[in-house]
Amino acid sequence: MQELLIGMEELNTELAELEAQAQRRRLQVVEEVLPGGRVRVAGQNLLNLSSNDYLGLAQDPRLIAAAQAAAARWGAGAGASRLVVGHLALHEEGEAHLAKFKGAEAAVIFPTGYMANVGTLAGLLGPGDVIFCDRLNHASIYDGIKLSGATLKRFPHRDLNRLEDLLRETGSARRRLIVTDSVFSVDGDLAPLQDLVNLKARYGTWLMIDEAHATGVFGEHGEGLAEAVGVSREVDIHMGTFSKALGSQGGYVAGDRRLVDYLHNRARSFIYSTALAPPVLGAIDAALKIVAQEPERRRYLLEEAEIFRRDLLAAGLDILGSETQIIPVLAGDNARTLAFAAELRAQGLMAVALRPPTVPPGRARVRFSLSAAHSREDLSRARQTVVATARKLGLGE
Ligand SMILES: *Cc1c(COP(=O)(O)O)cnc(C)c1O
Repeated sequence: MQELLIGMEELNTELAELEAQAQRRRLQVVEEVLPGGRVRVAGQNLLNLSSNDYLGLAQDPRLIAAAQAAAARWGAGAGASRLVVGHLALHEEGEAHLAKFKGAEAAVIFPTGYMANVGTLAGLLGPGDVIFCDRLNHASIYDGIKLSGATLKRFPHRDLNRLEDLLRETGSARRRLIVTDSVFSVDGDLAPLQDLVNLKARYGTWLMIDEAHATGVFGEHGEGLAEAVGVSREVDIHMGTFSKALGSQGGYVAGDRRLVDYLHNRARSFIYSTALAPPVLGAIDAALKIVAQEPERRRYLLEEAEIFRRDLLAAGLDILGSETQIIPVLAGDNARTLAFAAELRAQGLMAVALRPPTVPPGRARVRFSLSAAHSREDLSRARQTVVATARKLGLGE
């Protein structure tokens, strides 16, 4: 007991250090989710510019009804892991629909996108293998690499020359894989997919892309950035999530039948975790249908995102090369960034302040995520508020 108390005291010291560096995080309660991409927090009705619900599907009555119907028919939980007795006809069908949506031979669903990355990377690669990773890739990719035991070769963000140097230096490795987010959540910019496809072909490696922020948003059918760029067939491993634009939960990998069979046997986050719950499978299936049948949602989102970026650029703000619905505004130092976010919040806008260590020192920013749930009027007002607030803080012209 004595030891345990000392242990907790130690944690407290560390938390106090975080507090002193203005880096301690605390949970904030969303009291209510409101229509129009709004939330109530601390009694205040805010336009939510921090969510990943890009198509506004999380509150869609059709997803909710499909989740309820799946629960009524199959239960609240799957009852077992997939390889034991948790692979319901619902999972089989869901994965078939997903493969069709992705134009792939096969697909596998994981309980989360995080688990899809960790399980896939650690399942496919091991000691003696090399993984080439864009510096700004998602944390789940880094965790998967660490767990794999493969050698990490990190290249500067979108730096193809550096990547090619690394590819040249590592020709003797057993398996080699290049992995990249397709849409980067910190800068809202895009991976150079066509160039990566060329490099992977030239050096004989695998290419894995994480379409977490692109699934449902990019491509004529909403498959993701690979579809938009026209390189779907050249990408070996398509990873994505249902937790962002698709409004519910879960991660996926799509590709060759042999890849999927292999993951069933080697991805520990797939093997040793209970199958995704039936209501979630119901919601996923409904979301895939909506993405296919309502392209106007992603068109509206991308159109509004373009207007948002254009107005911010015209006001002289640095949006860090964003080309997507994720739009950062560089504020520089931490204090100014926090003041920016706080002032926006006072005016009814919820946007996150990103500070080091998430971003490099001196590159702190406020990030806006747009959703098809937001009305044109709300977004127009939001743009004006952002520009006016930025000016007050000495940003832009
Ligand atoms: C959110 C995210 C994940 C993790 O997905 P979850 O379904 O939330 O676990 C993986 N990769 C990227 C790039 C993400 O943004």
